[in-house]
Order: sequence, then C-alpha cells, then structure tokens
Amino acid sequence: MSTPRRILVTSALPYANGPIHIGHLVEYIQTDIWVRFQKLRGNECIYICADDTHGTAIMMSAQRTQCTEEQWIEQIQQEHMRDFAGFQIEFDNYGSTNCPENYELCKEFWHAFKAAGLVEQREVTQLFDGQQGIFLADRFVQGTCPHCDAEDQYGDSCDQCGATYSARELKNPTSTLTGSVPIEKSADHLFIMIEQLHEFLSDWSQSGEHLQTEIANYLQGHFLHEPLRDWDISRPAPYFGFEIPDHPGHFWFVWWDAPIGYIASTQQYCVRSGDDLDSWWRSPDTEIHHFIGKDITYFHTLFWPAMLKVADYTLPTKVHIHGFLTVDGKKMSKRDGTFIKAETYLKHVDPTYLRYFYASKLNGKVDDLDLNIDEFVAKVNSDLVGKVVNLASRTAKFVQELGLATEYPDDGGLFVQAAEDGDAIAEAYESCNYSLAMRLIMELADRANPYVETHEPWKLRKDPARQDELQNICTVAINLFRQIIIYLSPVLPELVEKTESLLGEQLNRWEQAKTPLTGRPVAKFQHMLKRLEEKDLQTMIDETREENDAQADDDVESVANPPAESTEQQQEPPETDGSAAELAVGHPYSDSDQPLKDEPLADEISFDDFMKVDLRVARVVKAEHVEEANKLLKLTLSLGGNETRQVFAGIKQAYDPADLEGRLVIMVANLAARKMRFGLSEGMIAAAGPGGEEVFMLAIDEGALPGQRVH
Ligand SMILES: [Zn+2]
Repeated sequence: MSTPRRILVTSALPYANGPIHIGHLVEYIQTDIWVRFQKLRGNECIYICADDTHGTAIMMSAQRTQCTEEQWIEQIQQEHMRDFAGFQIEFDNYGSTNCPENYELCKEFWHAFKAAGLVEQREVTQLFDGQQGIFLADRFVQGTCPHCDAEDQYGDSCDQCGATYSARELKNPTSTLTGSVPIEKSADHLFIMIEQLHEFLSDWSQSGEHLQTEIANYLQGHFLHEPLRDWDISRPAPYFGFEIPDHPGHFWFVWWDAPIGYIASTQQYCVRSGDDLDSWWRSPDTEIHHFIGKDITYFHTLFWPAMLKVADYTLPTKVHIHGFLTVDGKKMSKRDGTFIKAETYLKHVDPTYLRYFYASKLNGKVDDLDLNIDEFVAKVNSDLVGKVVNLASRTAKFVQELGLATEYPDDGGLFVQAAEDGDAIAEAYESCNYSLAMRLIMELADRANPYVETHEPWKLRKDPARQDELQNICTVAINLFRQIIIYLSPVLPELVEKTESLLGEQLNRWEQAKTPLTGRPVAKFQHMLKRLEEKDLQTMIDETREENDAQADDDVESVANPPAESTEQQQEPPETDGSAAELAVGHPYSDSDQPLKDEPLADEISFDDFMKVDLRVARVVKAEHVEEANKLLKLTLSLGGNETRQVFAGIKQAYDPADLEGRLVIMVANLAARKMRFGLSEGMIAAAGPGGEEVFMLAIDEGALPGQRVH
C-alpha cells in the first residue's frame, strides 16, 4: 500500500445567525462523506469547522433578543452542533471564530500584511443610522433604485432592473434597522492592496490544479482580467468582532477572521491531540481541502490564498465548490414549506435517506442540486431498501444457526468482480463524483440480487438434505452485501454499524472489500432500514410551513427557538383506567380517533422520567397582549408566596387576557427559560389542541393551591 496521505479538510463556517437547514447540509454531508472516505482508505484525515460569529448581523440579533453577543453565539453553536451530530456529520474539531486562538492568529496575519506594506488607511463616507448609532452595511439600507425608480430596493443592487450601485446613490434611503433616514458620515477604513498579489493569484488560480475549470474561468473573466480592487478590511465601532490592536475603535471585518478560523480550530484540535499546528498548516506534506458553496468563491479563491501566501501558510491543495439546493426545481421557500431546518427534518425523517440522496446527486460540479420529493422517495426506497438491505434481510436469518461457510463458495465471479470495481468506485469518491460512485455500487447490487432470486434460499430452507447448499448461497449473498456496505460506508455510517453488529466485525478499511468473510457466526438479523414514507415528508413540510408562519407573525429571528407554543409538548394523558375499551363500543362519548392518528402516543417512559417534569398549579395574576405578536400572550403566574414566573404562551387567538386573570392553570415549572424577542419565558402552560383558536388549557378543580405539585 502507498504511504498514507495527510489531509486537512474544512467546510465553510456556518454563520451564527440562524439554524442549519437542508440547503447547508449539501455541503456538510458532501464533506463528511469525503472525510470518511479518506479515513476508510487509511489516510490521516481531519475535518475542521467552526461557527462564524462576528459582524453587524450578530450584533443586531443579540440586541433584538436582549442578550449579549456571546450568549447569542453560544446558543447558536450548541444548536448547530446538535443538528450536525443528528446528520452523523463528524468533525475532528468544531470551534468558534470568537476564540482567543483566532485573535492571536488574526494578529499574526495582520502583522505580516503590515510588514509587507500591503495596508493603507483611507477615509470612507457611508450611510449612518443616527438613531442606532451605526454605519449601515448595504443590506441594511432600502430605497428607490436610482436607475429605474423601483421602490424598496436594497443598498447594493436592484432586483427589478439588475443595476448595481452604492447605497449612497439610492433615492429616499431608509435604514431597515430603525426606519429612520440615514445621514452620510465619514470614518477611517483600512484597505488591503491585493493588486500587488495579482500575478501570484493568476498563477495559483489558473494552474488547473486547485480549482474546478469553470471556477478558474469565472475568476479570470470577472476579476483577474483587470486590476484587483483594494479590499476594505476594517469597520468602525460599534461592531461585534476583534478590535484591531494598532487601530483602537476599529474592528477587522468578519471576512478577515472567518477563514483564519480554520487555522484556529485546527489549533484547538492540535492541543487536544498533542499535535503540531505547523505540521498541518505549514508543511509541504499536508494537503488542505476546502469545501464551499459558490456564493463565497471570491473570498476563498482570491483573498484567502493571498492571506495564506503573505502570512507564509500552506496554500489550499483544492477548493471544492458546489451549487445550491433547489427543492422540486425551485429555490427553497418559506412559503412552500421547503425551507426545511435540520432540526425539523430529524423529527420526522431518517438522516440516512438524505445522506444517500445527496450522494446520488453530487457530481463534483458547480451545478445546483435538486431535491425532487418524488424522486427522493423512489430512489431511497428502490436503492437502499429494495436493493441493498434486502440482500441481507432475505438471507441472514437462514445462516443465523449455520454461520457462514468455512470456504467461500463459487459464485460465478461476482465477488471478484465487485472487489475489482472497488478502484473505480474509490476514484469516483476521490473526485467528489459521488453520483458515479453510487451508480457503480448499485450495479453491484443489481448483479447480487438476481443471484439470490435464482437460488431461492427460502425454498432450500425447507429441505434438510440441502442445508450445505443453503449455507453457501447465503454466504455469497451476505458477502456481496458486505462489500456494498463497505463501499457505501462513507455515506451511510448508521447502516455500517448495524452491519457490524450482524457480522461481529468492524468495517473500517476499504481493503476489507477484497477478502470474503467465512467461517463465522451471523447474529440475529435486526431491522436495518424502513421504507421512506411520503407522508412523513409531508408532515415535515407542513411543520416547516407552520414554523415559518409563526415566524412571520412574531418575527422571531432565530427559528431555532420557536415561541413556547402551548401545544408543543403537553398533551392530555391517555386513558389508563380501562375505560377506553368501553368507550369504543357505542358509548355516548365515542370520540373521533383523529387526535391519536395525528399524534400517536409517545414511547413509554419510566415513572422517574415522568417525575423530572415538575408540573405545578399556578394562578394567572396578570395576562397581557404582546405588541406585534399575533400568537402570544404574556402571562405572569403566581406559584404562591412571592414566587412568580413570566411565561409567553401561544394562546392569544383562543383566550381573552381579561378572562384569564385569576384562574388556575397547570404549568411546567422546571423547563429551562427561553430567551424570546419579547423577554424571557420561564416555563410553559399545559394545554391541548392543534393551535390557533383551538387551544384548551388544563384546568384544575377548585381547592387546589398555587405551588402545589401535580402528580
Ligand atoms: Zn432598478
């Protein structure tokens, strides 16, 4: 075997201003597959990422939710990490650009640029929101297009006539932050004179090694054919970011410290693993691969190589650039319910399906990728369930007692052929042409399944005289299945684990596909993957639509933490006293079975689990409308004595505040407080119903006292 390669891989740092959605996942799944493939091949490969945490947008989000920027980015990071883990995306380090390691590295890069004489100071006049006290980035200004007079256009371009301009050219500009009319104001800015690196950037980007051809051509046609414009790298206070040491009151623009975050996050990895940072970032023996979306091409293919060059770090071996996700041929849309959060997806659908589907679509080009819902269902069911899992589910149970044959039987050359195909499959993975890899793997399955069908092991099963034959056929089928699973393992880590349990063997080397497994027991076959049901996808889309409606109503910026809807967690306890059977047979109260269909009973929990939820009687001492919120009421609840709690409940359409004051309710008293746009919500009211006007709060009989626990 050749010497293992040493490979550092990154995905673009997700911005800490909102949740991960299925569009983002195109990149993280793509990268994770590539990293897993490299590890499977025996290469030393690490996957580095972090949250991108600086900039005006973060500052505004923190302000809107009345928390500090640090609290805001901490919460978002936790959510991002949770969602990535849910999709089996495994980083070797996941950091944050707002860390001391990054600040130190930013200074080091800065000194290198100053020493090279590449920094210049100049005065810049910009629009300024006097009410908010900040300079306005283009997207925070709206006004009338100076070219076609279209109204409500943003400060950089017109979506009616396509013109681009500076925000100061807009007619009747207003600040989107406060609605006030901005004034013009000047401040010093620091510029990087990147033109001095023009020749280097032309050579690097046009060498044919580091970029896809279409990207190299794009850079040549749009930027490199003329002098490169200086890069404005500082922002005056107030700004959430790193203050520039030799320019107090000025901060590095977020695009300075974001890519340096790749190195900072690697440094954290090195500290943890006792590794040396320079061996990853300043070594000719290490490959560096960035995976990014096409929208940030400019930063990663011109500025970032320039920064690495000046600060004397290793240049990227390759920047892998992908397109955007469309759903059913259209841009992801909140109104269509196709702007699906990772969190929402995971509630309803197995991540294995999406990993496989994306793999079957990604071809290493910059084209957009379409998630067609019908194709999604058909493909995962036909390929994964019908062709792959089926191989094992139809044969493994027959060798549960016999075990695998001690010698690999004659299979007409199927195993050898699949072992030889491994090279072509590996090449496809290496070049990020996963769709080709998936096609080649499915061809193996297409050859293996007829073998099983022809030999009909389920018939041999019944003939005691033909048990050897049965064992041989199943040994072949299980081995062909095992090869396919090894080849698919970068895509489907969960299926690998289940196969490992079945075969009692770790599958972690590509080479294992070359040698059959024989003379071993086979464990009891456990269910591996169920069919993808279209209705689960519909539920996911409906829920996304509802989330987005709620967001539009209440303008909660981070949909990662939707308002505490009263119906979200609490449901009425099921009948447990035996009367359910009675109800079913013509009792006057024979209710509809729709609620149970809509929301089936949850998995059984222990008494201890139940006791973790601290339900208390509480009295509504105050109920108020929340201005600008269409669903929420603000409730002040008394738990007796001087203990009160503030809760925002989504019951506005069902209850009049005046009717609530004085009544007893049941509240979840130990739920972690949630910061909302309107204030802190310190619990939840128990209620049933689908929401809107149909919300029914739990009442308690007269005599109960506020503060008493509900058991
Ligand atoms: Zn226009």
